[in-house]
Amino acid sequence: MFDYIIVGSGFAGSVCARSLADAGKRVLVLERRPHIGGNAYDCTDENGILIHKYGPHIFHTNEKRVYEYLSRFTEWRKYDHEVLAKAGELEFPVPFNLNSLYKVFSAKKAEMLEKKLISAYGPQKKVPIGEMRESTDDDIRELAEFVYNNVFLHYTMKQWGQKPEEIDPATTARVPVFISRDNRYFQDEYQGMPLYGYTPMFERMLDHKNITVKCSVNADAYLKFEDKIIFENEIFEGKVIYTGALDELFGYCYGALPYRTLDFGFEHHDVTYYQSHGTVNYTVDEPYTRITEYKYLTGQEMEGSTTIMKEFSRSYRPETEDIPYYAIINDENNSLYQKYLSKAKEYENLLLLGRLAEYKYYNMDKIVSLALQLCDTLTEEK
Ligand code: FAD
Ligand code: UDP
Repeated sequence: MFDYIIVGSGFAGSVCARSLADAGKRVLVLERRPHIGGNAYDCTDENGILIHKYGPHIFHTNEKRVYEYLSRFTEWRKYDHEVLAKAGELEFPVPFNLNSLYKVFSAKKAEMLEKKLISAYGPQKKVPIGEMRESTDDDIRELAEFVYNNVFLHYTMKQWGQKPEEIDPATTARVPVFISRDNRYFQDEYQGMPLYGYTPMFERMLDHKNITVKCSVNADAYLKFEDKIIFENEIFEGKVIYTGALDELFGYCYGALPYRTLDFGFEHHDVTYYQSHGTVNYTVDEPYTRITEYKYLTGQEMEGSTTIMKEFSRSYRPETEDIPYYAIINDENNSLYQKYLSKAKEYENLLLLGRLAEYKYYNMDKIVSLALQLCDTLTEEK
């Protein structure tokens, strides 16, 4: 029999499964998709190009423990992600930085702004756009308006259907103005891509005698949430780690939690490279937010052949085939989530973990970190 049943085989489910299995626990993983890896799943397309089926995933972390844990299951390819913004005729690095200044303004004006930014915030500082818009310096405020209009406003409208000031400030603060000449999208100490891809990393993680994985099965085929959690017609005495959406688990009884979903437009082109950077953000026009060319991320070499992907964001429709990608964090949605959380707490052996189950905007490394912490606690318990 199983000590743990884990719903979902993304980072949350797979890291828990392996950590618990290593501690001698018997684990069943239930995954509704026909494959493991959650949204980080990658595979080759019909042209032999390695793609990320659910959007571009670049690994980055400052947590040594997270990096070392994953390094048990993969080697790494060094990759520093750089993103170019296209704003009409203008092209410049994002996050908007000192190099961007010189791309869009005359040298004289850029020099003046550089000096002002360094004296106002200090070198290497990251300043959220909302904060910069409130500067008391007229030149800095004018720059902030430029960045707001050319980086954030239209992209955020496409991505969230709302203006930057209407969404959770932590979201735009992910891409601050950076008082630096560093063009990398992330400054974390460890960053890169699993050398052979994410899926082989997950395969190795889940390859353990104590782990049974069942793909293409919805959790509700095995688990019933009645007064107690029922598994194969009996009360389940072990623990369930659930990494799916909480509203779905409880039949949307309080109403659906709002999410944004994405439509992915994959295109194959008979050229060696389609664009100059791994990702190009379309920050003022085009209906899509960004185009990613996977060969830059994966390092795959192939003459005269490449695959790109456009991301189109829209509202998620519950109880359809739509995939909930981004929780829409605001007070109203958080309080709806709290209702589901209270219901979940009625089950003493139900644990929630992950981007969906916690209704949070987590990067991969955060999930790995939380999964390891949870398993520390669980394996310390008798
Ligand atoms: P998921 O990966 O969503 O896994 C949950 C799994 O549970 C899924 O496989 C799902 O099928 C399964 N499941 C759900 N309900 C059920 C059920 N009832 N029965 C059976 N199975 C079920 N993070 C980064 O660090 N770097 C990036 O570059 C990055 N890029 C991203 C790009 C996009 C477009 C998106 C949407 C996210 C990105 N992320 C990135 C975030 C990253 O995807 C998440 O942090 C990570 O995938 C979360 O892992 P998880 O296990 O919580 O969820
Ligand atoms: N953002 C923007 N313009 C950009 C990049 C980001 O307006 O060129 C805003 C947008 O609201 C986006 C948020 O910053 O949703 C976070 O961007 P990030 O690239 O971290 O998003 P993710 O990769 O998680 O989709």
